[in-house]
Amino acid sequence: MNRQLANFLLKGGRVLDPASGRDGLFDVRVRNGTVDAIDGDLSPDGATVIDVKGLIVTPGLIDVHLHLMKGLGAFGVDPDIFGVGSGVTTVVDAGSAGHSLLNVFRSYVTNNAKTRVLNYINLSTLGGVAGPGFSILADSRLIDDEKIEKAVEANRDMVVGIKVMATGGALGAEGLKPLARARKLGDVLRLPLLVHIGESWNKDAAPVHVGDVLKYLRAGDIVTHMFTVHPGGLLDSNGKLWLQVRDAQESGVLMDVGHGLHNLNFDVARKVLDQGLFPDGVSTDGHRGNRAGPVYDLPTTMAKLMALGFSLDRVVEMATANAARLLGRYNELGFVRAGYPAEISVLRLEEREWQAVDSQKGTIPARQAIVPVYAIRGDRIYEPLPSERP
Ligand SMILES: [Zn+2]
Repeated sequence: MNRQLANFLLKGGRVLDPASGRDGLFDVRVRNGTVDAIDGDLSPDGATVIDVKGLIVTPGLIDVHLHLMKGLGAFGVDPDIFGVGSGVTTVVDAGSAGHSLLNVFRSYVTNNAKTRVLNYINLSTLGGVAGPGFSILADSRLIDDEKIEKAVEANRDMVVGIKVMATGGALGAEGLKPLARARKLGDVLRLPLLVHIGESWNKDAAPVHVGDVLKYLRAGDIVTHMFTVHPGGLLDSNGKLWLQVRDAQESGVLMDVGHGLHNLNFDVARKVLDQGLFPDGVSTDGHRGNRAGPVYDLPTTMAKLMALGFSLDRVVEMATANAARLLGRYNELGFVRAGYPAEISVLRLEEREWQAVDSQKGTIPARQAIVPVYAIRGDRIYEPLPSERP
């Protein structure tokens, strides 16, 4: 059930807000959509009391990689399913729209959603129209630098970067040339690149070496699918991180999980984590084909990272403060502070045993689950949609 309340008080929850360094029992009062006060014991002062005792109150969760052009191909999903319907307040589309569809994306997706919807513009004009197995960068005419620049300038409030499929399948005969063009566009537009690695779709294509891809990336760019088991991933044949991955990490290139149908593999994750490379962002790569498993939602993906050894604080930090930084929105999102619009998630941490399943049906035991209870945006309080999450 969704509610609209002018004044309400979240009473008795554990506020966990890594951006503000806050972790403890606090009440949060919201007036007319703005956080009015955060303190140990607040009086309702006329506000409706919402009992959140035993629950975790975090900044609104941010899922930085999904496919949200509802109805487009096999992937496009309604943003509110993975968004406020999953306890998440901000969702980011990863390249469904190229420059020619950006205005359609805005009016059809962003403007109609209850969740905040941002996006990465696809380097290719085709975006997600042709489906993932198509060579969308293999013809130089499919990148129109001028039109991309114009589309981005007209949509700065929505576009957070440029999506690049750095796979042999997508690049085809153009080889690494599209990466050079993406680099230039990123510099001109002062936007990060979101780069897909891993040959998950075109099994016959000659994979691109991640070391060659990373040469084009700078501080603030993001590699998504860091735990992919497919050719083109972060590990060499001995399970060691390629040297260029270390260099990229040191130079400030960011790493995102991008779970998806294909790209979270627990064995790869363990090897990558054991070598000291940790995710900056946690994302579902959510779409129509993985909501009913293996992905489900962002809270479940966060719980899988906990099963891999991360603490609740760390995964909440990834999904809030880190995600906001990754999107260049840290002044606006990823914290709960008095005087700012209310963007809040309320979660329940359940102590129970379950099997976490990866994209290759590999399992690891998990002892804690994260279940969404509310997503709050301004004066609106959303309860999650039914889910088959484990
Ligand atoms: Zn994706």
